[in-house]
Amino acid sequence: MLSKSTNVFWHENHVLRADREARQGHPTAVIWFTGLSGSGKSTLANELDWRLFERGVSSYVLDGDNIRHGLNGDLGFSPEARTENIRRIGEVAKLFADAGTIAITAFISPYREDRDKVRALLDRDEDFLEVFVEAPLEVCEERDPKGLYKKARSGEIPEFTGISAPYEAPLSPEIVVNTSSDDVATCVDRIIDVLAERGYLPAE
Ligand code: ADP
Repeated sequence: MLSKSTNVFWHENHVLRADREARQGHPTAVIWFTGLSGSGKSTLANELDWRLFERGVSSYVLDGDNIRHGLNGDLGFSPEARTENIRRIGEVAKLFADAGTIAITAFISPYREDRDKVRALLDRDEDFLEVFVEAPLEVCEERDPKGLYKKARSGEIPEFTGISAPYEAPLSPEIVVNTSSDDVATCVDRIIDVLAERGYLPAE
């Protein structure tokens, strides 16, 4: 068991977040994708990242599988481990926003309470943009891009979201995209439109 550290003090950075945002020419935020496995979070997050990069916006994708290889390699998929997974990612996303970069996260993040805690963790209300990537379970299962649903159905993977573990859809997400009715470009256009409306993009 890792023990809690004592005698640790918080240091304020001399360069403030606002200074970094002013130099970047855009405010930062956390764009938090949530949805079932195979709903399209990674695909949309990476396409959005590319579109922002092309416009000179500083952004970075934190992706489920990659984080679970490294930072969260010690965590499984029990409810407690999922909660800790999201807590750490929230903290990392906050650091990215502080560092002048828009953090784009692509995690199932099945529990509403865990997502709301990340929202509460951030400095400003407008820092958290929740994007609900909506697609019916049947569509996600049909896509099964990593063959995970097949394994979940056969019992090889226990506690699989949508099959043997719950998914709690957001109640009032800032953005909803439906990947079973709209293609990737349409979904990303919709997100870009909201970012532009809310002042996250520098003038073209
Ligand atoms: P997740 O990260 O949610 O597990 P992925 O992005 O890895 O999902 O996989 C989604 C799959 O669905 C990909 O194979 C992608 O090509 C496909 N797909 C079809 N239509 C869309 C869409 N509109 N948006 C995102 N992905 C889509």
